[in-house]
Amino acid sequence: MKIQENAVVGMHYTLKNSDGEVIDSSEGGDVLSYLQGAGNIITGLEKALEGKEKGDKIDVSIEPEEGYGPHREELIQEAPVSAFQGVDNLEVGMGFQAETEQGPIPVRITAIEGETVTVDGNHELAGEKLFFSVSIEEVREATEDELAHGHIHGEGCNHDH
Ligand code: ZN
Repeated sequence: MKIQENAVVGMHYTLKNSDGEVIDSSEGGDVLSYLQGAGNIITGLEKALEGKEKGDKIDVSIEPEEGYGPHREELIQEAPVSAFQGVDNLEVGMGFQAETEQGPIPVRITAIEGETVTVDGNHELAGEKLFFSVSIEEVREATEDELAHGHIHGEGCNHDH
């Protein structure tokens, strides 16, 4: 069957940035499975895979708008170290949930200078053009449970029911 909304797709992928560096890859590991049309993966990749089938291999470049979004300066903020009371060993790279007017968003510490901590709510790949090489390993119909939950079950499912 072809990839269409509500298909479960298993794929191997390699993601590179515009410098050709490998950022992420499933090669040598498990197939990544997702539910097409449910927003499990970035929009640009869902679009590129629509209509493809098992055995197809594609190379696709994805603009930030259909990837992890543009890089937004306003998501970078400075806070005093005292705002992190209760956190031992503050380090660059640590992740937190920050409470904002739009609800909680994940942020990372990108710098600590003296008493000032810089946190960044941008996705690490925000603003980046993404280059995916994908091989499609499996395409199947989703089960009713999977459709109701909006994600795949079985191999690779990591939540309790
Ligand atoms: Zn579920």
